[in-house]
Amino acid sequence: MKSQQSHVKALAGKLLVVDDEPNILSSLKRCLVKTPFEVYVANNAQEGLAIMQEHNIQVVLSDFRMPHMSGAELIEQIKSTYPDVISMVLSGFADFDSAIGLLNSGAAHKFLRKPWNNRDLIDEIDGAFTEYHTRLLNKRVLEGEHNPEYYAFEQAVRDQFEMQQEFCLVSLKIKDYDFLEQHAGPNIFKGLLTEIRGLVNSELPQGSQTFAFDSGKIFIIIPDYESEAIIHSRLSAINHKLNEPNTQRQGCVKINCVMGYALAPSDGDSPSSLLENLRSAFSVDNVEKERLCRFDSALRDVQRRQLKIKNSINGALRENQFYLHFQPKVHLPEQKIDSAEILIRWQHKELGWIPPNEFINLSELDGQIEQIGEWLITQSVKMIAELHQFSPDLKRVAINISACQLANNSVVEQFARLLEQYALPPSLIELEITESCLIQDFEQTLKVLQALKSLGLSIAMDDFGTGYSSFAYLAKLPIDVLKLDKVLVDGIEGCKEIQSMIAGLITMCHELGISVVAEGVEVAGQVDLLKLYGCDYIQGFHFSKALPKPEFEQILLQQPFNTEVQ
Ligand code: C2E
Ligand code: CA
Ligand code: CA
Repeated sequence: MKSQQSHVKALAGKLLVVDDEPNILSSLKRCLVKTPFEVYVANNAQEGLAIMQEHNIQVVLSDFRMPHMSGAELIEQIKSTYPDVISMVLSGFADFDSAIGLLNSGAAHKFLRKPWNNRDLIDEIDGAFTEYHTRLLNKRVLEGEHNPEYYAFEQAVRDQFEMQQEFCLVSLKIKDYDFLEQHAGPNIFKGLLTEIRGLVNSELPQGSQTFAFDSGKIFIIIPDYESEAIIHSRLSAINHKLNEPNTQRQGCVKINCVMGYALAPSDGDSPSSLLENLRSAFSVDNVEKERLCRFDSALRDVQRRQLKIKNSINGALRENQFYLHFQPKVHLPEQKIDSAEILIRWQHKELGWIPPNEFINLSELDGQIEQIGEWLITQSVKMIAELHQFSPDLKRVAINISACQLANNSVVEQFARLLEQYALPPSLIELEITESCLIQDFEQTLKVLQALKSLGLSIAMDDFGTGYSSFAYLAKLPIDVLKLDKVLVDGIEGCKEIQSMIAGLITMCHELGISVVAEGVEVAGQVDLLKLYGCDYIQGFHFSKALPKPEFEQILLQQPFNTEVQ
Protein backbone atom coordinates (compact mmCIF):
# COMPACT_ATOMS: atom_id res chain seq x y z
CA MET A 1 0.00 0.00 0.00
CA LYS A 2 1.22 3.48 -0.84
CA SER A 3 1.87 5.69 2.12
CA GLN A 4 -0.26 8.82 2.42
CA GLN A 5 2.84 10.94 2.23
CA SER A 6 4.05 9.56 -1.08
CA HIS A 7 0.59 10.09 -2.45
CA VAL A 8 0.90 13.84 -2.07
CA LYS A 9 2.54 15.41 -5.05
CA ALA A 10 2.15 19.15 -4.73
CA LEU A 11 4.11 21.79 -2.94
CA ALA A 12 3.16 21.45 0.68
CA GLY A 13 2.32 24.49 2.74
CA LYS A 14 0.42 25.79 5.75
CA LEU A 15 -3.05 24.43 6.33
CA LEU A 16 -5.57 25.73 8.86
CA VAL A 17 -8.35 23.39 10.02
CA VAL A 18 -11.32 24.91 11.89
CA ASP A 19 -14.01 22.83 13.59
CA ASP A 20 -15.86 23.24 16.87
CA GLU A 21 -16.04 19.51 17.54
CA PRO A 22 -12.92 18.26 19.33
CA ASN A 23 -13.44 14.70 18.04
CA ILE A 24 -13.45 15.84 14.46
CA LEU A 25 -10.38 17.99 14.96
CA SER A 26 -8.45 15.08 16.42
CA SER A 27 -9.43 12.71 13.64
CA LEU A 28 -8.43 15.33 11.09
CA LYS A 29 -5.09 15.76 12.85
CA ARG A 30 -4.59 11.99 12.80
CA CYS A 31 -5.45 11.87 9.12
CA LEU A 32 -3.01 14.65 8.27
CA VAL A 33 -0.13 13.77 10.55
CA LYS A 34 1.86 11.86 7.94
CA THR A 35 1.40 14.41 5.21
CA PRO A 36 3.92 17.16 4.56
CA PHE A 37 1.29 19.85 5.27
CA GLU A 38 2.03 22.10 8.20
CA VAL A 39 -1.27 21.80 10.06
CA TYR A 40 -2.75 24.44 12.38
CA VAL A 41 -6.02 23.76 14.19
CA ALA A 42 -8.66 26.07 15.65
CA ASN A 43 -11.80 25.30 17.67
CA ASN A 44 -13.72 28.27 16.36
CA ALA A 45 -13.65 30.99 13.72
CA GLN A 46 -12.10 33.66 15.96
CA GLU A 47 -9.25 31.37 16.89
CA GLY A 48 -8.83 30.58 13.21
CA LEU A 49 -8.59 34.28 12.33
CA ALA A 50 -5.99 34.81 15.05
CA ILE A 51 -3.89 32.02 13.53
CA MET A 52 -4.31 33.56 10.08
CA GLN A 53 -2.85 36.80 11.38
CA GLU A 54 0.19 35.08 12.83
CA HIS A 55 1.00 32.58 10.11
CA ASN A 56 1.11 32.70 6.41
CA ILE A 57 -1.74 30.20 5.91
CA GLN A 58 -2.41 29.17 2.31
CA VAL A 59 -5.30 26.71 2.61
CA VAL A 60 -8.23 26.67 5.05
CA LEU A 61 -10.53 23.74 5.73
CA SER A 62 -13.52 24.84 7.79
CA ASP A 63 -16.63 23.35 9.29
CA PHE A 64 -19.85 25.13 8.31
CA ARG A 65 -22.01 25.21 11.43
CA MET A 66 -20.16 26.69 14.35
CA PRO A 67 -21.39 28.83 17.23
CA HIS A 68 -20.84 32.64 17.20
CA MET A 69 -19.28 32.92 13.76
CA SER A 70 -20.27 30.39 11.10
CA GLY A 71 -17.99 28.79 8.56
CA ALA A 72 -19.63 30.93 5.87
CA GLU A 73 -18.78 34.13 7.70
CA LEU A 74 -15.27 32.95 8.43
CA ILE A 75 -14.68 32.13 4.78
CA GLU A 76 -16.09 35.47 3.64
CA GLN A 77 -13.84 37.29 6.04
CA ILE A 78 -10.83 35.30 4.86
CA LYS A 79 -11.74 36.09 1.27
CA SER A 80 -11.79 39.80 1.96
CA THR A 81 -8.72 39.92 4.20
CA TYR A 82 -6.57 37.25 2.59
CA PRO A 83 -7.84 37.04 -0.99
CA ASP A 84 -5.18 34.58 -2.13
CA VAL A 85 -6.02 31.94 0.47
CA ILE A 86 -7.94 28.89 -0.75
CA SER A 87 -10.84 28.02 1.57
CA MET A 88 -12.80 24.79 1.56
CA VAL A 89 -15.89 23.76 3.49
CA LEU A 90 -15.94 20.39 5.25
CA SER A 91 -19.45 19.71 6.41
CA GLY A 92 -22.50 17.48 6.33
CA PHE A 93 -24.20 17.30 2.96
CA ALA A 94 -27.28 19.01 4.43
CA ASP A 95 -25.29 22.26 4.41
CA PHE A 96 -24.52 22.08 0.74
CA ASP A 97 -27.39 24.38 -0.29
CA SER A 98 -26.31 27.05 2.17
CA ALA A 99 -22.76 26.88 0.88
CA ILE A 100 -23.75 27.43 -2.74
CA GLY A 101 -23.53 31.20 -2.38
CA LEU A 102 -19.97 30.87 -1.08
CA LEU A 103 -19.02 28.61 -3.94
CA ASN A 104 -20.67 30.85 -6.52
CA SER A 105 -18.99 33.97 -5.24
CA GLY A 106 -15.64 32.18 -5.34
CA ALA A 107 -15.11 32.68 -1.58
CA ALA A 108 -15.01 28.91 -1.14
CA HIS A 109 -13.04 26.70 -3.50
CA LYS A 110 -14.82 23.41 -2.76
CA PHE A 111 -17.42 21.73 -0.62
CA LEU A 112 -16.12 18.51 0.97
CA ARG A 113 -18.46 16.13 2.62
CA LYS A 114 -18.44 14.70 6.13
CA PRO A 115 -17.79 11.85 6.84
CA TRP A 116 -14.70 11.91 4.69
CA ASN A 117 -12.38 9.35 3.20
CA ASN A 118 -8.82 10.12 4.36
CA ARG A 119 -7.15 9.49 1.05
CA ASP A 120 -9.68 11.64 -0.86
CA LEU A 121 -9.44 14.42 1.67
CA ILE A 122 -5.64 14.52 1.42
CA ASP A 123 -5.96 14.62 -2.36
CA GLU A 124 -8.37 17.53 -2.15
CA ILE A 125 -6.08 19.47 0.21
CA ASP A 126 -3.17 18.71 -2.06
CA GLY A 127 -5.24 20.03 -4.98
CA ALA A 128 -6.01 23.18 -3.01
CA PHE A 129 -2.30 23.92 -2.52
CA THR A 130 -1.71 23.37 -6.22
CA GLU A 131 -4.59 25.76 -6.91
CA TYR A 132 -3.06 28.30 -4.53
CA HIS A 133 0.30 28.24 -6.30
CA THR A 134 -1.25 28.23 -9.77
CA ARG A 135 -3.46 31.22 -8.99
CA LEU A 136 -0.60 33.14 -7.52
CA LEU A 137 1.54 32.44 -10.52
CA ASN A 138 -1.25 33.35 -12.92
CA LYS A 139 -1.93 36.52 -11.04
CA ARG A 140 1.67 37.52 -11.24
CA VAL A 141 1.88 36.65 -14.90
CA LEU A 142 -1.33 38.54 -15.54
CA GLU A 143 -0.15 41.59 -13.72
CA GLY A 144 3.32 41.32 -15.14
CA GLU A 145 4.48 40.79 -11.60
CA HIS A 146 6.42 37.60 -12.18
CA ASN A 147 9.72 39.38 -12.13
CA PRO A 148 12.11 39.85 -9.21
CA GLU A 149 10.94 43.44 -8.96
CA TYR A 150 7.62 42.20 -7.56
CA TYR A 151 9.33 40.30 -4.78
CA ALA A 152 11.44 43.35 -4.03
CA PHE A 153 8.27 45.39 -3.87
CA GLU A 154 6.52 42.92 -1.53
CA GLN A 155 9.60 42.89 0.67
CA ALA A 156 9.67 46.69 0.76
CA VAL A 157 6.03 46.75 1.89
CA ARG A 158 6.76 44.18 4.60
CA ASP A 159 9.77 46.25 5.72
CA GLN A 160 7.56 49.30 6.09
CA PHE A 161 5.17 47.36 8.32
CA GLU A 162 8.04 46.13 10.42
CA MET A 163 9.18 49.69 11.02
CA GLN A 164 5.76 50.35 12.50
CA GLN A 165 5.44 53.78 10.99
CA GLU A 166 2.61 55.20 8.97
CA PHE A 167 3.17 55.13 5.24
CA CYS A 168 1.35 55.64 1.99
CA LEU A 169 1.14 53.10 -0.80
CA VAL A 170 0.23 54.33 -4.26
CA SER A 171 -0.71 52.37 -7.31
CA LEU A 172 -0.51 54.12 -10.64
CA LYS A 173 -2.01 52.56 -13.74
CA ILE A 174 -1.59 53.60 -17.32
CA LYS A 175 -4.84 52.75 -18.98
CA ASP A 176 -4.87 51.00 -22.34
CA TYR A 177 -1.21 50.24 -21.81
CA ASP A 178 -1.23 47.26 -24.17
CA PHE A 179 -2.59 49.41 -26.94
CA LEU A 180 0.02 52.08 -26.32
CA GLU A 181 2.81 49.54 -26.33
CA GLN A 182 1.57 48.03 -29.56
CA HIS A 183 1.40 51.36 -31.32
CA ALA A 184 4.24 53.29 -29.79
CA GLY A 185 6.70 50.45 -29.27
CA PRO A 186 8.16 48.67 -26.25
CA ASN A 187 10.44 51.54 -25.29
CA ILE A 188 7.55 53.73 -24.41
CA PHE A 189 7.46 52.45 -20.86
CA LYS A 190 11.09 53.31 -20.21
CA GLY A 191 10.48 56.90 -21.21
CA LEU A 192 7.34 57.15 -19.12
CA LEU A 193 9.04 55.59 -16.15
CA THR A 194 11.86 58.12 -16.28
CA GLU A 195 9.25 60.86 -16.41
CA ILE A 196 7.33 59.37 -13.46
CA ARG A 197 10.48 58.85 -11.38
CA GLY A 198 11.38 62.48 -12.04
CA LEU A 199 7.97 63.60 -10.80
CA VAL A 200 8.20 61.35 -7.74
CA ASN A 201 11.58 62.91 -6.90
CA SER A 202 10.40 66.44 -7.32
CA GLU A 203 6.94 66.16 -5.75
CA LEU A 204 7.16 63.48 -3.06
CA PRO A 205 9.14 63.25 0.17
CA GLN A 206 12.66 61.89 0.07
CA GLY A 207 12.92 58.15 0.46
CA SER A 208 9.85 57.46 -1.69
CA GLN A 209 10.43 54.29 -3.70
CA THR A 210 9.06 53.44 -7.13
CA PHE A 211 8.49 49.89 -8.40
CA ALA A 212 7.53 49.44 -12.02
CA PHE A 213 6.05 46.45 -13.83
CA ASP A 214 5.80 45.63 -17.50
CA SER A 215 2.04 45.78 -17.39
CA GLY A 216 2.11 49.55 -17.13
CA LYS A 217 1.54 49.49 -13.40
CA ILE A 218 3.70 51.36 -10.96
CA PHE A 219 3.70 51.23 -7.17
CA ILE A 220 5.09 54.02 -5.02
CA ILE A 221 5.85 53.67 -1.33
CA ILE A 222 5.93 56.99 0.48
CA PRO A 223 7.45 56.28 3.88
CA ASP A 224 6.85 59.54 5.54
CA TYR A 225 3.89 61.73 4.74
CA GLU A 226 2.90 64.80 6.70
CA SER A 227 -0.84 64.60 6.27
CA GLU A 228 -3.36 63.06 3.94
CA ALA A 229 -4.27 66.48 2.55
CA ILE A 230 -0.67 67.16 1.56
CA ILE A 231 -0.09 63.75 0.05
CA HIS A 232 -3.38 64.01 -1.84
CA SER A 233 -2.43 67.33 -3.39
CA ARG A 234 1.06 66.08 -4.33
CA LEU A 235 -0.32 62.95 -5.97
CA SER A 236 -2.95 65.04 -7.66
CA ALA A 237 -0.24 67.28 -9.10
CA ILE A 238 1.67 64.27 -10.43
CA ASN A 239 -1.49 62.85 -11.91
CA HIS A 240 -2.38 66.12 -13.54
CA LYS A 241 1.05 66.45 -15.15
CA LEU A 242 0.93 62.89 -16.44
CA ASN A 243 -2.50 63.33 -17.96
CA GLU A 244 -1.68 66.62 -19.66
CA PRO A 245 -0.79 66.33 -23.32
CA ASN A 246 3.00 66.44 -23.55
CA THR A 247 4.71 66.94 -26.90
CA GLN A 248 8.10 66.10 -25.40
CA ARG A 249 6.96 62.57 -24.78
CA GLN A 250 8.05 60.33 -27.60
CA GLY A 251 5.41 58.19 -29.20
CA CYS A 252 2.52 59.15 -26.98
CA VAL A 253 1.58 62.73 -26.48
CA LYS A 254 -1.44 61.85 -24.37
CA ILE A 255 -1.74 59.10 -21.80
CA ASN A 256 -4.57 58.19 -19.49
CA CYS A 257 -3.32 57.56 -16.03
CA VAL A 258 -5.24 56.74 -12.83
CA MET A 259 -4.01 56.52 -9.28
CA GLY A 260 -5.25 54.88 -6.11
CA TYR A 261 -3.67 55.07 -2.71
CA ALA A 262 -4.04 53.54 0.72
CA LEU A 263 -2.60 54.66 4.03
CA ALA A 264 -1.05 52.11 6.36
CA PRO A 265 -1.91 50.94 8.89
CA SER A 266 -5.38 52.55 8.85
CA ASP A 267 -6.35 51.16 5.43
CA GLY A 268 -4.88 47.70 6.00
CA ASP A 269 -2.85 46.36 8.87
CA SER A 270 -0.96 43.65 7.01
CA PRO A 271 0.84 43.69 3.64
CA SER A 272 -1.80 41.48 2.03
CA SER A 273 -4.79 43.43 3.32
CA LEU A 274 -3.19 46.74 2.37
CA LEU A 275 -2.50 45.55 -1.16
CA GLU A 276 -5.97 44.12 -1.50
CA ASN A 277 -7.56 47.32 -0.25
CA LEU A 278 -5.42 49.30 -2.63
CA ARG A 279 -6.90 47.23 -5.45
CA SER A 280 -10.37 48.13 -4.31
CA ALA A 281 -9.45 51.83 -4.40
CA PHE A 282 -9.79 51.40 -8.13
CA SER A 283 -13.49 50.87 -8.03
CA VAL A 284 -14.85 51.68 -11.47
CA ASP A 285 -17.13 54.46 -10.27
CA ASN A 286 -14.50 56.25 -8.28
CA VAL A 287 -11.82 56.20 -10.87
CA GLU A 288 -14.04 57.35 -13.71
CA LYS A 289 -15.00 60.38 -11.71
CA GLU A 290 -11.75 61.35 -10.11
CA ARG A 291 -8.66 59.62 -11.45
CA LEU A 292 -7.19 59.75 -7.96
CA CYS A 293 -8.89 57.83 -5.16
CA ARG A 294 -8.09 56.71 -1.69
CA PHE A 295 -9.18 53.26 -0.69
CA ASP A 296 -12.66 53.65 0.71
CA SER A 297 -13.48 51.47 3.68
CA ALA A 298 -17.16 52.36 3.34
CA LEU A 299 -17.10 50.92 -0.16
CA ARG A 300 -15.39 47.80 1.10
CA ASP A 301 -17.96 47.53 3.89
CA VAL A 302 -20.74 47.76 1.33
CA GLN A 303 -19.08 45.02 -0.70
CA ARG A 304 -18.78 42.86 2.42
CA ARG A 305 -22.40 43.43 3.37
CA GLN A 306 -23.50 42.51 -0.13
CA LEU A 307 -21.47 39.34 -0.02
CA LYS A 308 -22.93 38.46 3.36
CA ILE A 309 -26.45 39.00 2.04
CA LYS A 310 -25.83 36.92 -1.07
CA ASN A 311 -24.32 34.13 0.98
CA SER A 312 -27.25 34.05 3.38
CA ILE A 313 -30.06 33.81 0.82
CA ASN A 314 -30.08 30.03 0.36
CA GLY A 315 -29.97 29.42 4.10
CA ALA A 316 -32.74 31.96 4.65
CA LEU A 317 -34.96 30.12 2.17
CA ARG A 318 -34.25 26.82 3.86
CA GLU A 319 -34.87 28.19 7.33
CA ASN A 320 -38.04 30.09 6.36
CA GLN A 321 -36.62 33.48 7.22
CA PHE A 322 -38.60 35.22 4.49
CA TYR A 323 -42.20 36.13 5.06
CA LEU A 324 -44.88 38.04 3.25
CA HIS A 325 -46.73 41.21 4.17
CA PHE A 326 -49.84 42.70 2.58
CA GLN A 327 -50.23 46.39 1.88
CA PRO A 328 -53.92 47.25 1.49
CA LYS A 329 -55.18 49.13 -1.57
CA VAL A 330 -58.26 51.28 -1.09
CA HIS A 331 -60.84 51.37 -3.88
CA LEU A 332 -61.69 55.08 -3.84
CA PRO A 333 -65.23 55.07 -5.32
CA GLU A 334 -66.41 52.58 -2.67
CA GLN A 335 -64.04 53.60 0.15
CA LYS A 336 -63.27 49.92 0.45
CA ILE A 337 -60.16 47.81 0.78
CA ASP A 338 -60.64 45.01 -1.71
CA SER A 339 -57.07 44.36 -2.78
CA ALA A 340 -53.45 44.39 -1.65
CA GLU A 341 -49.85 44.17 -2.75
CA ILE A 342 -47.60 41.45 -1.38
CA LEU A 343 -44.22 42.70 -0.18
CA ILE A 344 -41.49 40.34 0.90
CA ARG A 345 -39.79 40.77 4.28
CA TRP A 346 -36.52 39.35 5.59
CA GLN A 347 -35.20 39.52 9.12
CA HIS A 348 -31.55 38.56 8.83
CA LYS A 349 -30.13 36.92 11.97
CA GLU A 350 -27.21 39.27 12.12
CA LEU A 351 -27.91 42.22 9.83
CA GLY A 352 -31.50 42.70 11.02
CA TRP A 353 -34.19 43.83 8.63
CA ILE A 354 -32.92 44.00 5.07
CA PRO A 355 -34.89 46.16 2.61
CA PRO A 356 -36.33 44.00 -0.18
CA ASN A 357 -34.89 46.27 -2.84
CA GLU A 358 -31.43 45.49 -1.61
CA PHE A 359 -31.58 41.70 -1.59
CA ILE A 360 -33.86 41.38 -4.62
CA ASN A 361 -31.40 43.41 -6.69
CA LEU A 362 -28.45 41.40 -5.41
CA SER A 363 -30.22 38.12 -6.00
CA GLU A 364 -30.94 39.19 -9.56
CA LEU A 365 -27.24 39.62 -10.22
CA ASP A 366 -26.27 36.04 -9.57
CA GLY A 367 -29.43 34.15 -10.34
CA GLN A 368 -30.61 33.50 -6.79
CA ILE A 369 -33.79 35.37 -7.69
CA GLU A 370 -34.97 32.17 -9.33
CA GLN A 371 -35.16 30.36 -6.00
CA ILE A 372 -36.59 33.37 -4.16
CA GLY A 373 -39.05 33.97 -6.99
CA GLU A 374 -40.25 30.40 -6.99
CA TRP A 375 -40.72 30.40 -3.23
CA LEU A 376 -42.44 33.77 -3.42
CA ILE A 377 -44.94 32.73 -6.07
CA THR A 378 -45.78 29.44 -4.33
CA GLN A 379 -46.17 31.08 -0.96
CA SER A 380 -48.13 34.04 -2.37
CA VAL A 381 -50.64 31.90 -4.25
CA LYS A 382 -51.15 29.75 -1.16
CA MET A 383 -51.82 32.82 0.98
CA ILE A 384 -54.06 34.44 -1.62
CA ALA A 385 -56.12 31.23 -1.68
CA GLU A 386 -56.43 31.38 2.12
CA LEU A 387 -57.46 35.04 2.00
CA HIS A 388 -59.98 34.26 -0.72
CA GLN A 389 -61.53 31.68 1.60
CA PHE A 390 -61.45 34.16 4.45
CA SER A 391 -63.16 37.06 2.69
CA PRO A 392 -65.26 36.86 -0.45
CA ASP A 393 -64.86 40.67 -0.75
CA LEU A 394 -61.21 40.33 -1.66
CA LYS A 395 -60.91 41.10 -5.36
CA ARG A 396 -57.25 40.98 -6.16
CA VAL A 397 -53.78 40.62 -4.66
CA ALA A 398 -50.66 41.76 -6.47
CA ILE A 399 -47.35 39.89 -6.59
CA ASN A 400 -44.19 41.71 -7.65
CA ILE A 401 -42.38 39.92 -10.43
CA SER A 402 -38.79 40.75 -11.22
CA ALA A 403 -37.44 41.05 -14.74
CA CYS A 404 -35.41 37.85 -14.44
CA GLN A 405 -38.51 35.84 -13.59
CA LEU A 406 -40.05 36.80 -16.90
CA ALA A 407 -37.05 35.62 -18.86
CA ASN A 408 -38.55 32.20 -19.51
CA ASN A 409 -41.78 30.30 -19.57
CA SER A 410 -41.34 28.46 -16.29
CA VAL A 411 -43.21 31.20 -14.44
CA VAL A 412 -46.27 30.56 -16.64
CA GLU A 413 -46.14 26.84 -15.85
CA GLN A 414 -45.76 27.55 -12.17
CA PHE A 415 -48.85 29.79 -12.05
CA ALA A 416 -50.91 27.32 -14.10
CA ARG A 417 -49.98 24.52 -11.70
CA LEU A 418 -50.68 26.53 -8.55
CA LEU A 419 -54.02 27.90 -9.76
CA GLU A 420 -55.13 24.35 -10.33
CA GLN A 421 -53.73 23.06 -7.06
CA TYR A 422 -55.58 25.70 -5.00
CA ALA A 423 -58.62 25.94 -7.30
CA LEU A 424 -58.10 29.70 -7.19
CA PRO A 425 -59.92 31.98 -9.67
CA PRO A 426 -57.07 33.57 -11.70
CA SER A 427 -58.68 37.02 -11.50
CA LEU A 428 -57.48 37.15 -7.89
CA ILE A 429 -53.89 37.45 -8.97
CA GLU A 430 -52.26 40.56 -10.35
CA LEU A 431 -48.62 40.74 -11.32
CA GLU A 432 -46.68 43.98 -10.87
CA ILE A 433 -43.90 44.36 -13.37
CA THR A 434 -41.48 47.23 -13.88
CA GLU A 435 -39.99 48.71 -16.94
CA SER A 436 -36.69 46.96 -16.40
CA CYS A 437 -38.53 43.76 -17.36
CA LEU A 438 -39.18 45.21 -20.77
CA ILE A 439 -35.80 46.71 -21.47
CA GLN A 440 -33.97 43.40 -21.29
CA ASP A 441 -35.79 41.45 -23.98
CA PHE A 442 -39.00 43.07 -25.07
CA GLU A 443 -40.23 40.32 -27.41
CA GLN A 444 -39.62 37.51 -24.92
CA THR A 445 -41.21 39.44 -22.05
CA LEU A 446 -44.22 40.27 -24.17
CA LYS A 447 -44.70 36.60 -25.00
CA VAL A 448 -44.55 35.57 -21.34
CA LEU A 449 -46.89 38.40 -20.33
CA GLN A 450 -49.41 37.36 -22.95
CA ALA A 451 -49.25 33.76 -21.75
CA LEU A 452 -49.82 34.90 -18.16
CA LYS A 453 -52.74 37.00 -19.29
CA SER A 454 -54.27 34.07 -21.11
CA LEU A 455 -54.21 32.22 -17.80
CA GLY A 456 -56.50 34.97 -16.54
CA LEU A 457 -54.03 36.95 -14.41
CA SER A 458 -53.94 40.72 -14.66
CA ILE A 459 -50.84 42.79 -15.20
CA ALA A 460 -49.88 46.07 -13.56
CA MET A 461 -47.15 48.43 -14.68
CA ASP A 462 -45.30 49.42 -11.51
CA ASP A 463 -43.35 52.59 -10.71
CA PHE A 464 -44.83 54.70 -13.53
CA GLY A 465 -43.23 58.13 -13.44
CA THR A 466 -39.71 56.94 -12.71
CA GLY A 467 -37.13 56.08 -15.34
CA TYR A 468 -38.22 56.17 -18.93
CA SER A 469 -41.75 54.99 -18.39
CA SER A 470 -43.60 56.28 -21.37
CA PHE A 471 -47.15 56.06 -22.45
CA ALA A 472 -46.07 54.52 -25.75
CA TYR A 473 -45.22 51.33 -23.89
CA LEU A 474 -48.65 50.99 -22.41
CA ALA A 475 -50.43 50.80 -25.73
CA LYS A 476 -48.11 47.97 -26.80
CA LEU A 477 -48.49 45.94 -23.62
CA PRO A 478 -51.28 43.81 -22.22
CA ILE A 479 -51.62 46.10 -19.20
CA ASP A 480 -54.67 46.23 -16.92
CA VAL A 481 -53.37 48.53 -14.22
CA LEU A 482 -50.99 51.48 -14.01
CA LYS A 483 -49.29 52.29 -10.74
CA LEU A 484 -48.37 55.95 -10.34
CA ASP A 485 -45.09 56.08 -8.51
CA LYS A 486 -44.58 57.91 -5.25
CA VAL A 487 -42.45 60.58 -6.97
CA LEU A 488 -45.51 61.74 -8.92
CA VAL A 489 -47.79 61.48 -5.89
CA ASP A 490 -45.28 63.47 -3.83
CA GLY A 491 -45.35 66.28 -6.36
CA ILE A 492 -49.09 66.46 -6.78
CA GLU A 493 -49.94 69.00 -4.09
CA GLY A 494 -47.50 71.72 -4.95
CA CYS A 495 -47.23 71.53 -8.71
CA LYS A 496 -49.89 72.49 -11.27
CA GLU A 497 -48.04 70.71 -14.10
CA ILE A 498 -47.97 67.42 -12.21
CA GLN A 499 -51.64 67.85 -11.38
CA SER A 500 -52.69 68.26 -14.98
CA MET A 501 -50.36 65.50 -16.09
CA ILE A 502 -51.84 63.05 -13.58
CA ALA A 503 -55.40 64.11 -14.42
CA GLY A 504 -54.66 63.59 -18.15
CA LEU A 505 -52.91 60.29 -17.51
CA ILE A 506 -55.87 58.93 -15.54
CA THR A 507 -58.34 59.95 -18.27
CA MET A 508 -56.15 58.37 -20.92
CA CYS A 509 -55.78 55.14 -18.95
CA HIS A 510 -59.52 54.89 -18.49
CA GLU A 511 -60.02 55.29 -22.22
CA LEU A 512 -57.66 52.34 -22.73
CA GLY A 513 -59.50 50.29 -20.08
CA ILE A 514 -56.57 50.57 -17.66
CA SER A 515 -57.27 51.31 -14.01
CA VAL A 516 -54.95 53.52 -11.97
CA VAL A 517 -53.41 52.93 -8.55
CA ALA A 518 -51.55 55.75 -6.82
CA GLU A 519 -48.81 54.51 -4.50
CA GLY A 520 -46.90 56.09 -1.67
CA VAL A 521 -49.90 58.20 -0.66
CA GLU A 522 -49.04 59.68 2.69
CA VAL A 523 -51.30 62.70 3.28
CA ALA A 524 -55.00 63.55 3.05
CA GLY A 525 -54.42 66.37 0.54
CA GLN A 526 -53.05 63.84 -1.95
CA VAL A 527 -56.10 61.61 -1.47
CA ASP A 528 -58.45 64.52 -2.18
CA LEU A 529 -56.73 65.47 -5.41
CA LEU A 530 -56.45 61.85 -6.61
CA LYS A 531 -60.15 61.35 -5.90
CA LEU A 532 -60.93 64.50 -7.85
CA TYR A 533 -59.01 63.21 -10.90
CA GLY A 534 -60.85 59.87 -10.79
CA CYS A 535 -57.95 57.70 -9.57
CA ASP A 536 -59.27 54.18 -8.89
CA TYR A 537 -57.08 52.96 -6.07
CA ILE A 538 -54.90 54.44 -3.38
CA GLN A 539 -52.06 52.67 -1.61
CA GLY A 540 -49.77 54.20 0.98
CA PHE A 541 -48.86 54.87 4.57
CA HIS A 542 -51.76 57.30 4.88
CA PHE A 543 -54.01 54.25 5.10
CA SER A 544 -51.71 51.46 6.06
CA LYS A 545 -48.24 50.08 5.72
CA ALA A 546 -47.75 46.46 4.65
CA LEU A 547 -49.13 44.15 7.34
CA PRO A 548 -48.77 40.52 8.38
CA LYS A 549 -51.62 38.37 7.09
CA PRO A 550 -53.65 38.20 10.34
CA GLU A 551 -53.68 42.00 10.61
CA PHE A 552 -54.64 42.37 6.97
CA GLU A 553 -57.51 39.96 7.61
CA GLN A 554 -58.71 42.18 10.45
CA ILE A 555 -58.73 45.15 8.10
CA LEU A 556 -60.77 43.20 5.57
CA LEU A 557 -63.39 42.70 8.26
CA GLN A 558 -63.66 46.42 9.04
CA GLN A 559 -65.36 47.58 5.87
CA PRO A 560 -66.14 50.08 4.50
CA PHE A 561 -62.79 51.54 5.35
CA ASN A 562 -62.96 55.16 6.40
CA THR A 563 -60.46 57.05 4.27
CA GLU A 564 -60.91 60.29 6.22
CA VAL A 565 -59.92 59.34 9.73
CA GLN A 566 -56.80 57.23 9.31
P1 C2E B 1 -42.55 48.62 -4.91
O1 C2E B 1 -43.08 47.42 -5.62
O2 C2E B 1 -42.69 49.93 -5.58
O3 C2E B 1 -43.23 48.60 -3.49
C1 C2E B 1 -43.67 49.73 -2.83
C2 C2E B 1 -42.70 50.13 -1.76
O4 C2E B 1 -43.09 51.40 -1.23
C3 C2E B 1 -42.72 49.17 -0.57
O5 C2E B 1 -41.41 49.20 0.00
C4 C2E B 1 -43.68 49.85 0.38
O6 C2E B 1 -43.53 49.46 1.72
C5 C2E B 1 -43.33 51.28 0.16
N1 C2E B 1 -44.44 52.16 0.48
C6 C2E B 1 -45.76 51.92 0.38
N2 C2E B 1 -46.47 52.99 0.76
C7 C2E B 1 -45.60 53.95 1.09
C8 C2E B 1 -45.71 55.31 1.55
O7 C2E B 1 -46.79 55.86 1.72
N3 C2E B 1 -44.54 55.98 1.78
C9 C2E B 1 -43.33 55.40 1.60
N4 C2E B 1 -42.23 56.13 1.88
N5 C2E B 1 -43.17 54.15 1.14
C10 C2E B 1 -44.30 53.44 0.90
P2 C2E B 1 -40.63 47.87 0.27
O8 C2E B 1 -41.52 46.85 0.86
O9 C2E B 1 -39.39 48.28 0.98
O10 C2E B 1 -40.27 47.35 -1.17
C11 C2E B 1 -39.39 48.05 -1.97
C12 C2E B 1 -39.28 47.40 -3.31
O11 C2E B 1 -38.73 46.09 -3.21
C13 C2E B 1 -40.61 47.20 -4.01
O12 C2E B 1 -41.00 48.40 -4.58
C14 C2E B 1 -40.24 46.13 -5.00
O13 C2E B 1 -39.55 46.69 -6.09
C15 C2E B 1 -39.26 45.27 -4.22
N6 C2E B 1 -40.02 44.15 -3.65
C16 C2E B 1 -40.66 44.07 -2.48
N7 C2E B 1 -41.26 42.87 -2.33
C17 C2E B 1 -40.99 42.18 -3.48
C18 C2E B 1 -41.34 40.89 -3.94
O14 C2E B 1 -42.05 40.13 -3.29
N8 C2E B 1 -40.85 40.52 -5.18
C19 C2E B 1 -40.10 41.35 -5.94
N9 C2E B 1 -39.68 40.92 -7.13
N10 C2E B 1 -39.77 42.58 -5.52
C20 C2E B 1 -40.20 43.00 -4.31
CA1 CA C 1 -44.84 46.92 -6.57
CA1 CA D 1 -43.93 50.69 -7.05
